[in-house]
Amino acid sequence: MDRPRPGLNRRRFLRGTALAAVPYALLPDARAGATAQAVDYPLAEWQPANSGNYTVSNRPTTYPLDYVVIHVTQETYPNTLSIFQNPAKKVSAHYVVRSADGHVAQCVREANIAWHAGNWDYNTRSIGIEHEGWVDQPAYFTNTLYEQSARLTAAVCDTYRIPKDRAHIIGHYEVPGTDHTDPGPNWDWTRYIRLVNFA
Ligand SMILES: [Zn+2]
Repeated sequence: MDRPRPGLNRRRFLRGTALAAVPYALLPDARAGATAQAVDYPLAEWQPANSGNYTVSNRPTTYPLDYVVIHVTQETYPNTLSIFQNPAKKVSAHYVVRSADGHVAQCVREANIAWHAGNWDYNTRSIGIEHEGWVDQPAYFTNTLYEQSARLTAAVCDTYRIPKDRAHIIGHYEVPGTDHTDPGPNWDWTRYIRLVNFA
C-alpha cells in the first residue's frame, strides 16, 4: 500500500479540525439556503451575478489584489442584485451591503474580476463593495451599514494582505479615468477606516 507522507496526513487532520470548530450557524448554507461554500465571506448570502457580467480568473495568482473599491449603488438593494443578474447590463461587484440591516450579499467570487471600477487595470486588482443608497442621501449610510461593511473590508484586507488605509481602501471616484462620484461627500471615511482597523 502506498502510504501518504506524514506531513500530508497532518495537514488533512488540521484542516478537518479547523472546519469542525466552525459553529454550524456560521456556515453559509445554514443561512437562507445559500449554495454551500459558494461565498468567500462566511457572513455573506450568495446572490450570484450573471456569468456574462464578470471575468473568470484565479486571483491572487493571476493578478495581485491591491485595493478595495467603495461604491454607492444609486439603486435599491434588490434592484442592484437584479442588475447584476441581467447579462445586458455588463456590470457587477463582489459584494452588496444592505442599508437597513447591514446584510451582505456576495455576487462574484473574489478570485474572479467583477466589472465595477470602470477601469480594467483597477478591476483586475480590486474587490468591489457596493452600499445601498444614494450619494446625496446620507440617511442610507446607517451605523450597521458602516459596521458590517467594515467587517467585510477587514476580512478582505486580511486575506490578501491589503493595508487598511486610504491608499488601498479607495472610493470609486478615485479610480483613474472614472466620471463616478461615489461614495460621495457624505461617506464618513475617517469613521470607516477606523472601523476597518478595529473590526
Ligand atoms: Zn461606483
